[in-house]
Amino acid sequence: MTPTTPAALSGVPVVPGVAYAPVIRPGRPPAPEDLSTPGAVAEADRPDETARFGAAATAVAERLRERAAHATGAASEVLGATAQLATDRAWLGAAEKRIGEGTPAIRATAEAVEQFVEMFTKMGGLMAERVTDLRDIRDRVVAELAGLPEPGVPVPDVPSILCAEDLAPADTAGLDPALIVGLATSLGGPTSHTAIIARQLGIPCVVAVTGLDDVDAGRLMLIDGTRGSLTVDPDTAEAVAAVARAAEAAAAMANWTGPGATADGHPVAVLANVQDGAGARAARETPAEGIGLFRTELCFLNSDTEPSVEEQARIYGEVLQAFSEHKVVVRTLDAGSDKPLKFANSPDEANPALGVRGIRVSFGNPALLDNQLAGIAAAAEQTGNAPWVMAPMIATPEEARDFAGKVRAHGLTPGVMIEVPAAALLADRILEHVDFLSIGTNDLAQYTMAADRMSAELATLTDPWQPGVLALVAMTAKAGVAVDKPVGVCGEAAADPLLACVLVGMGITSLSAAAAAVTAVGAKLSTVTLEQCRRAAEAVLGTADAAGARAAALDVLG
Ligand code: PEP
Ligand code: MG
Repeated sequence: MTPTTPAALSGVPVVPGVAYAPVIRPGRPPAPEDLSTPGAVAEADRPDETARFGAAATAVAERLRERAAHATGAASEVLGATAQLATDRAWLGAAEKRIGEGTPAIRATAEAVEQFVEMFTKMGGLMAERVTDLRDIRDRVVAELAGLPEPGVPVPDVPSILCAEDLAPADTAGLDPALIVGLATSLGGPTSHTAIIARQLGIPCVVAVTGLDDVDAGRLMLIDGTRGSLTVDPDTAEAVAAVARAAEAAAAMANWTGPGATADGHPVAVLANVQDGAGARAARETPAEGIGLFRTELCFLNSDTEPSVEEQARIYGEVLQAFSEHKVVVRTLDAGSDKPLKFANSPDEANPALGVRGIRVSFGNPALLDNQLAGIAAAAEQTGNAPWVMAPMIATPEEARDFAGKVRAHGLTPGVMIEVPAAALLADRILEHVDFLSIGTNDLAQYTMAADRMSAELATLTDPWQPGVLALVAMTAKAGVAVDKPVGVCGEAAADPLLACVLVGMGITSLSAAAAAVTAVGAKLSTVTLEQCRRAAEAVLGTADAAGARAAALDVLG
């Protein structure tokens, strides 16, 4: 791209907000030829080469640990996890073995990492996500061995917009939002590490941007994380005005304290998604009126054995306690696919996302669900807060009926998630058995569009604004309205303030999002009428693609 070409680019918007600043780019990782150092190490020099490798890996881990100590929340966790991977004996051992056989340290590092990359890629799901971390560690160790500056994000002198193909978790985790005021990647999806950290830090972010790799460092850019648009070398006055308008809107948003309702008083519960007691206590600090999704499986990702009923009751009780006298929706274990549990899932499924996950795990192991329901009932008893309980991955009315029977036997209120297109199509028949529905738009998008939600390449297909996905959401909401039963949305769609209003226009009765998104969603909803939401929903359902859907909603809702 030549320095004089003003250009409009677009991608998938992830974190709302507008910024105008120069572009910076992360330092280049080593080129492939840097990794394939030729020759062999003489036998006498191998102990020294091994020690040099060990020192490099330790230095990299130390630096990551130090950054983890200075970061907070998810950023600190991501940096800590990357540091731990840098000291993982498995790959260090594989590299040392190669050096012991005469391979130079740099090539040994690259080969050992590639061995584990292959293994993790085959395992799929969350393990495959660690591939980026591993390669990032490789690049850092290689730079250390070669005496080069550590690859990664430079610390800019002035507030800047960071543009990259994709960012390693360790890079995103260390970002300073005062200096990095916008983030754009040409790869990555709405659920990628970059997106998660950008959301936590509140940095306007757009991912999967076509043409971004041609924009050089130093160019001026206007990024709009609400619309997913980027303008390179924009008109200065227009850019400054856009930033000022966004700042005004943000200030108005910060004053919103709930409860959720449209400008004309139509109530819509704005709830938080959590994964444990700590998350629930943090969500209590926001205007969230309750918990719309408690992802219980995330409490047990590191457990080798099934937790006892008492242990489960204690964990669930923490969340019920944090929101005592408020609505809490507990989801039973969504084990499998990207969240495998050692005690629940078989490790060798060919297609885990289409396999025995969610409610299906209980078909072969009914005690798992029975014990969990007993744990939830005990927590309800102990805290005096009886939650609603829903099952993930329901595909048929019969599954919903069986689940509801079990939940009612424990004196609790049953519902199911709508994540499978078949369930959306038969939502009216499912509602004959349960008291509420909650739409998981992340999986509903994945299964409707036949596109892996973890795939960065397919991020534009798994965009929740896809009209095909929204048609199923509308159908489900309509089924709820017909029998006057609540239908909520608890997937990422509910975290997008504009889309949240569209969902309300379809008849959705509650919105549950990451705690960080609650205020933005509630504030936006408070500025529009129910009639506007309905008009936006109608307009969106008439479009043919995600960009058209967004534009149609913006026309009506501003
Ligand atoms: C969803 O699929 O939208 C959902 C909320 O569940 P999870 O993201 O945990 O699969
Ligand atoms: Mg899901």
